[in-house]
Amino acid sequence: MRHVAIVGSGPAGYYTAETLQKAEDIAVDVIDRLPVPYGLIRTGVAPDHQSIKAVSRRYEGVALTDNVRFVGHVSVGTDVTIDELVELYDAVVLATGAPNDRPLAIPGADRAGVIGSAAFVGWYNGHPDFARLDPPLDSAGVVVIGNGNVALDVARILAKTPAEFAGSDIVAHARDALAASAVREIHILGRRGPHQIAMTPKELGELGHLERASPRVDPADLPDEGDDAMLEPGMRKSVTHLRSFAANPVAKPVTIDFDFFAMPVAIEGDGRVQRVIVERTTLDSELRSHGTGETYAIDAGLVISCIGYQTPPIPGVPYEHGRGRFASDEGRILPGLYAVGWARRGPSGTIGTNKPDGARIAEMLLADIGRGAGKAGRAGLDSLLASRNIVPVTFRDWRKIEAAEVAAALDGNPREKFTSIEAMLAAIGR
Ligand code: NAP
Repeated sequence: MRHVAIVGSGPAGYYTAETLQKAEDIAVDVIDRLPVPYGLIRTGVAPDHQSIKAVSRRYEGVALTDNVRFVGHVSVGTDVTIDELVELYDAVVLATGAPNDRPLAIPGADRAGVIGSAAFVGWYNGHPDFARLDPPLDSAGVVVIGNGNVALDVARILAKTPAEFAGSDIVAHARDALAASAVREIHILGRRGPHQIAMTPKELGELGHLERASPRVDPADLPDEGDDAMLEPGMRKSVTHLRSFAANPVAKPVTIDFDFFAMPVAIEGDGRVQRVIVERTTLDSELRSHGTGETYAIDAGLVISCIGYQTPPIPGVPYEHGRGRFASDEGRILPGLYAVGWARRGPSGTIGTNKPDGARIAEMLLADIGRGAGKAGRAGLDSLLASRNIVPVTFRDWRKIEAAEVAAALDGNPREKFTSIEAMLAAIGR
């Protein structure tokens, strides 16, 4: 028997498990620190993007196979160490994603009211770590920093009316806070230009169909239309949306302004953030941004930095500090230790990018471990955890938690999530 532990039950973890479970004589344990599975699908993908979240049904299919087991509410690093897992399993795969925000290194970034997208996205998605975030939504102005899909998610969620959340699984605390929000002017800051955005067309196009909010683009920021021809097709479509926003400004009570060539340089305020100082930029021949010295201020009571994520290091595991991910040779970190998904390649690509990534790492480790080395595997983990009085949450337990969440859903919504670990455990009588 070959024993594999996957740390992290998000897309990268389950796609890896999906390929592994097709092999013979294999037992796969998918370990997660939360009592609930699916990682970013549950707590990262926007609650109004249910069609993307539906991929969890596929992971459920994997989780329900005989040779895959969910080991929830077990923290690797605290309840069990990486070294112990490497001792117990033929292979350990770190599929821990990139849950930490890249730091916004400008003066004033530590002011109250400045938060990272991991926290804000976690808050509206009911991640237990961020359920108490209580972002200040009492000012008209909000600055969203970054020109990626996360910035779009954040701006859209801030702009939506309660009715537009119908059918979503946004959690009650966020639904209520957003319904009472005073936010009217959302500024999305890009330090480069329309041709350098990292926004995909479908997500960008959604901003053009919001009930009470409209996107605004300054036509002067757009390059010559002929230059769009050199873009790859997806980017060309995205830029076409920006051109349409610029050409057809619609008056609505909430505005979403795209500030291009705009680099935040300081966050000011009396204690809490009151304004963001922005420097205009130009691009050099390699499309890097440089400040021009010309600045302006945007009044804002909330700043959400959406500038990318990083994987937290684990003591003893080689790490690439510059890139915020584990150091690996195409996924091999150390003998018996692998990385997959964002933990391996950094926070890029869509959920689907993890499918080939997971399959490749699974095939690589199967070739590496051969028929296995007679390790203790899951029986060994069970006795180690029992000796520490740790009772994991099983997939069967999770399905009870899920059933309780589905039963609590508002009409037409898929679920009402538990937002604390205590409430999740209470649903299974613990
Ligand atoms: P991202 O795509 O890497 O975008 C990060 C943005 O932050 C870039 O525009 C970058 O600008 C900007 N930035 C970085 N450092 C900055 C700084 N110091 N000051 C100002 N701006 C800065 O990251 P993301 O939006 O977090 O998304 C992560 C991944 O998840 C992406 O692959 C994304 O497509 C994916 N995702 C997909 C969906 C979806 O498909 N619906 C939804 C959410 C996320 P530069 O280009 O100038 O560096």
